[in-house]
Amino acid sequence: MGLLIENAAQIVTCHTRGRKFKAGKYQSEIGLLKNASIYAENGKIKWLGKTLPANLKKLVIRKINAKGKCVLPGFIDSHTHLVFAGSRADEYSMRISGSTYEEIAKAGGGIASTVKAVRKASKKELKELALKRIINSVTFGVTTLEAKSGYGLNSDNELKMLEVINELNRELPVDIYATFLGAHAFPKDKTKTEYIDEILYEMIPKIAENDLATYIDAFCEKNYFTPAETIKIFRQGKKFGLVPKLHTNQFYSIGGIKAAVNSGALSVDHLEVMKPSDINILTGTGVIACVLPTVSYFLDIPYAPARKMIEKNIPVTIATDFNPGSAMSENLQLAMSMGVHLLKMNVEEVINSVTINAAAALGISHYTGSIEAGKQADMVIFDTPNYRDILYHFGINQADTVIKNGKIIYH
Ligand SMILES: [Zn+2]
Repeated sequence: MGLLIENAAQIVTCHTRGRKFKAGKYQSEIGLLKNASIYAENGKIKWLGKTLPANLKKLVIRKINAKGKCVLPGFIDSHTHLVFAGSRADEYSMRISGSTYEEIAKAGGGIASTVKAVRKASKKELKELALKRIINSVTFGVTTLEAKSGYGLNSDNELKMLEVINELNRELPVDIYATFLGAHAFPKDKTKTEYIDEILYEMIPKIAENDLATYIDAFCEKNYFTPAETIKIFRQGKKFGLVPKLHTNQFYSIGGIKAAVNSGALSVDHLEVMKPSDINILTGTGVIACVLPTVSYFLDIPYAPARKMIEKNIPVTIATDFNPGSAMSENLQLAMSMGVHLLKMNVEEVINSVTINAAAALGISHYTGSIEAGKQADMVIFDTPNYRDILYHFGINQADTVIKNGKIIYH
């Protein structure tokens, strides 16, 4: 009935000791086991330790020899925009050569170009594009992803994006959690009030009725959505069962952190610009700080003060923010490397940030994000005896086998 991963040089459990996430000094604690094995049955981890008990031994039907390798919890990318169409490679090139935002917009670039391409694309086209990206992500050790809408900016197309995410979740072995991000930007063909009304009274009820999303998100930023508008959207989302997460403090600190904390958000994401008062508001709330170093790298903007937040006991997660405009990479291991070298997090903090804390950012840390008996058997085996090699030996991919719900999904 079961799967045995035997004789791993190291098992990095990221165990929680009953906590939902790891913060402060605990974010460095990874729960290392040496020369140990893991037994999984019916998609769940049943046992881990040195010698498999005889009663379980006879149930093993598949064995993986992990001698000289290390096993980690499956990585979780808790913030992506992986459903989109079109390419912004030309815009990227213009930006690198010094073109201004206005020049790029005039040439048909920016989020408007992605919106146009998504509106034109069929569900089938969007799915095919997203599938390739999900496979890329899995090869780097990811077993759970979050994906947002936000390039439709009208009822039909926001729902179309969410339907694509839901179909991919049903058809693929990985878990993909959907976030409704209608409040990503304002469409050109409506006033702000008209569009917010469409979000509140048309999109949210339809999404809830069709059970198309778990979370609700907004871009709380100067020239986008104000804290008051964000609170209004979150209030309506919550009424329909959606859990808030917030894009905030990317360019300006305008009160998004407070709006998110007061709305009961699971996470606040971006945080490149944090005033001391923002950090104080976040401290002690248990809201996860989701930092996105690939965006800072790609856009050449400041990096989130992850080190400072860890010192203030704020749980930190790293995600890719994979999207066509500001972080065109599915590679979570690349974001992890940036976590060490640009955010000044230690190796253990980074590993916890993409496992247990990423699970907490999605509110699912009670069943995934660590290797513990009773949890979902989501694991990744790396072809190295020392987990530190995953970050030390950078720029290559040492993920050897990816296991989701006790089944090998990549080798
Ligand atoms: Zn984002």
